[in-house]
Amino acid sequence: TTSSVRKVSCASLLSQGQSAGIPTKWLKPSLMSNDSLSESTIKRLPDEFYNHFLSDVAKNRMPSPIRSLLPLERTPGVISLLAGKPNASMFPFTSLSFATRSPTSPYQETTIMLEDAELQVALQYSETDGLKPLVDWLYGLQELNHGRKIGEGWRITPGCGSQDLIYKAVQCMVNSGDAVLVESPVYGGVIPMFASLHCEQIEVETDAHGICSSSLRKILEEWPKGKPKPKVLYTVPYGCNPTGMTATTDRRKEVLELSREHNFIILEDDPYFYVYYGESPRYPSYFQLELKEPEVGRVVRFDSVSKILSAGIRIGFASGPTVILNAIDQLTSTSNLQVPSLTQVMIYRLLSSWGYDGFAAHVKRVAELYKAKRDVFERGMRKHLTGLAEWDSPEAGMFFWFKLLLTDEAGLSHQGDSEDVIRTRAFENGILAVPGTAFIPNGGKTPYVRASFSLIGEDEIDTALQRIRDAILQERAA
Ligand code: PMP
Repeated sequence: TTSSVRKVSCASLLSQGQSAGIPTKWLKPSLMSNDSLSESTIKRLPDEFYNHFLSDVAKNRMPSPIRSLLPLERTPGVISLLAGKPNASMFPFTSLSFATRSPTSPYQETTIMLEDAELQVALQYSETDGLKPLVDWLYGLQELNHGRKIGEGWRITPGCGSQDLIYKAVQCMVNSGDAVLVESPVYGGVIPMFASLHCEQIEVETDAHGICSSSLRKILEEWPKGKPKPKVLYTVPYGCNPTGMTATTDRRKEVLELSREHNFIILEDDPYFYVYYGESPRYPSYFQLELKEPEVGRVVRFDSVSKILSAGIRIGFASGPTVILNAIDQLTSTSNLQVPSLTQVMIYRLLSSWGYDGFAAHVKRVAELYKAKRDVFERGMRKHLTGLAEWDSPEAGMFFWFKLLLTDEAGLSHQGDSEDVIRTRAFENGILAVPGTAFIPNGGKTPYVRASFSLIGEDEIDTALQRIRDAILQERAA
């Protein structure tokens, strides 16, 4: 292991409010660059359009009287007596340093030191809409990966993980009792969000190609006359949690078309975007695809650093229509005020020292690890679960979603329900996995199970799958 201490320049961190320019040498042509479409030629939906999409609570929320003035502190020459910012000279931290791995040669480490004025930024309150250098870096990333240029009508805001932002988006857009569209099975983390608002969760079927856009079309075409149509659709397009499936471009295009025809906003929750195992070009995101729509502004996209940099650092970011993101910021400014400055500084210093190429090299390695794990896990599944379970192989993410075949040799079906087998029998055999019911918005039986293969070591996979096999056989024999 070689280690070198290198102090990375932090000038941009200290010049809050200066140019938002992204060094062009960092930018590579985006997937859409051959397209004639760009932010400057697209037609965006006007701000008034979003009145319909804001919840009553969001419309009634007062701006924070102090936080809303904070950006004015950057006005040149102004003396601020504004915020109750504590005097950082009394904070007992004199330096913080962390060592980071090179994205290309994992054994080479760089130590990044936070000291003096930069440390003060990290330890002080900062603006709700994010630490500017970090947000600027993320604009560059969105341009690279989604062809979206900094321009009118959309912006980025950070959150304490994407979960924080999804929760806030739901609060800002959905009224109590609203009908909402959710793919099914769906990420279990959003079910309580909609349930606590007494929403009618309309389940949109999914299969090996992701969300079934034809089922969505049917739901919307048969929507009862006079009943208000759903304002949002929640979907996880890459390596879906729990199914592991990735939506094809055609499905995505049809969903977008439907969002225009039936006037809803797509909440694109994409924490596994960078955990896609295949070669580029990957399927374009909704956020990118919508550039081809006659009017742009129906996608709120959620990214996360959790699966690729650190989950405990709690950083995610939303990209989408300014009006919606402003409403989210307003909620943040009255709840947890901001994402911790320290973690934003850490992530910024890491990313800016890597550059976009380094980031791309890192996520490639991350995806390779998960692909290798998927392969070993699937080999084990074929060995132990052939004839006892069925599954599709994930192209992204960290989950297998498999159907237990619980019909015994005498043809007796054991309820088509994974609940008992997994929650009780498998656990007694020493295995923990999630029964599929946890991901069905309106509950009900399902023979499916979610197994996460992100952490399991190769030596344990065989034992784990043998135990699942035993549980299925015991259930069949019961
Ligand atoms: N959405 C999905 C689909 C997830 O799987 C997760 C993490 N389990 C999240 C959101 C939350 O991620 P974060 O750590 O960014 O809050």
